[in-house]
Amino acid sequence: MQVRILPSSPDAGHLQHLISFVIDGRVAIDAGCLGLCGTPLSQSAITSVLLTHSHMDHVASLPIFAMNVLDCTDRGVTVYAPTAVIETLTQDVFNWRIWPDFANLLLDGHPIVTFEPIEPRRETRIGDLTVTAIPINHPVPAVSYLIDDGQSAVVFALDTGPTEEIWNVAARHPRLKAAFIDVAFPDDMRALAEATGHLTPSLARGQLARLPEPVMRIAAHLKAAYYDRIVDELERADIQNLSIGQTGFDYEF
Ligand SMILES: [Zn+2]
Ligand SMILES: [Zn+2]
Repeated sequence: MQVRILPSSPDAGHLQHLISFVIDGRVAIDAGCLGLCGTPLSQSAITSVLLTHSHMDHVASLPIFAMNVLDCTDRGVTVYAPTAVIETLTQDVFNWRIWPDFANLLLDGHPIVTFEPIEPRRETRIGDLTVTAIPINHPVPAVSYLIDDGQSAVVFALDTGPTEEIWNVAARHPRLKAAFIDVAFPDDMRALAEATGHLTPSLARGQLARLPEPVMRIAAHLKAAYYDRIVDELERADIQNLSIGQTGFDYEF
């Protein structure tokens, strides 16, 4: 499985202001910057988007992405998300005031954006990927994703405070190769991290201790203003097999 962390803007470098990952060039996780990267033609290679939750840094460019794919290919996109996230997007974004109602604008009888509800704890097939959503700890309905291509499985646990189930499920998975984990705040902001459903280096250390040793741990969603402090604390936390997520880099698992 190939995973790329998309860069947030042309000059953002390593900073993840907005959140988007792309798997095997075809399936995106979150659409914070998905619609801002590359050309409409390159974006149109992506046919499905999985959303973790409705916060702006994860959905901001979804309308732009869907418009680019439409303009370029005359086809729509499929967006998988928990039902509560779909309801928020249809009420608050695709409502004609913020953006046209792509969920009800039809193209050859199909919506421009087809929303597919994803049921937690149930396997969903997307191409050759098996996707399982596990609820996590965040102030709005949010899920992590365990994604398995039959050879490797990878966890995306973004925007979560301390949680249990995803780590238990991941630790049991026979093909687990890597886990991307939220480390949004430095340790002295632990109270704010817990109140807003995020992790700090020491909280992440406790979460990651549940995974088998060879699994790659990759810190992501480091808040831009605290990036250097978080990196410094992660290095000192001495977490086995941990690296800092690199934007624009193609991870192979
Ligand atoms: Zn969030
Ligand atoms: Zn976020």
